[in-house]
Amino acid sequence: MNSRLLIVGDCFYEKSGAMSSDTGRENMVIRMCGIEPESIVDGPGFRYVLFVQGCSHHCKGCHNPESWPTDAGEDMTLAEIMDEIKSNPNLDGVTFSGGEPFEQVPALLELAKMIKAEGLGLMSYSGYTLEELEGRGDAATDELLGLLDMLVDGRYVEEQRNLTLIYRGSENQRVIDMNKTREAREAGSIDSDGVVLYHTDFDKEIQI
Ligand code: SF4
Repeated sequence: MNSRLLIVGDCFYEKSGAMSSDTGRENMVIRMCGIEPESIVDGPGFRYVLFVQGCSHHCKGCHNPESWPTDAGEDMTLAEIMDEIKSNPNLDGVTFSGGEPFEQVPALLELAKMIKAEGLGLMSYSGYTLEELEGRGDAATDELLGLLDMLVDGRYVEEQRNLTLIYRGSENQRVIDMNKTREAREAGSIDSDGVVLYHTDFDKEIQI
């Protein structure tokens, strides 16, 4: 295991305060299960998808159980990931999938900043609900949420599986438009813990 990684419970966390320069940031690592460099099914447009390693949710019927153990997969530096992303001018955005992205927040937060600096969209999956993530009271988690354009939240519930849903596998999961959610919360048009769901021409059924 990389010596800069600290295991907390089932999760990998980068030691806070370890990165003091851009070079240090680029050398931060994410434990990876896999990559899909050109996806059209993991969010709008043409996307680079990171499947991170490690997930403590263990949902029944999970399509990717090999992503559960934190001691499998391999490390990639943020520099390596950004080199791949920047080499493809056709990308509309990047999607964090898994595994559980919100069990590797510090490194994904720095990567998110680099992705947004390139003008790319950013979407993440999480088995945690938005309310659970906001309830952590963790500044890095809040900052990462603040950089997302979309969040697909909630555990996969096999009994609520629905193959007609876009970007999600079970009906309890939500595709949250994070930009519109922030705008609506600031404007007071929804409660401070309310959400605005994402709508597409292909998915008229998504409801708030
Ligand atoms: S959160 Fe996702 S990756 Fe984790 S167990 Fe559930 S379905 Fe699998």
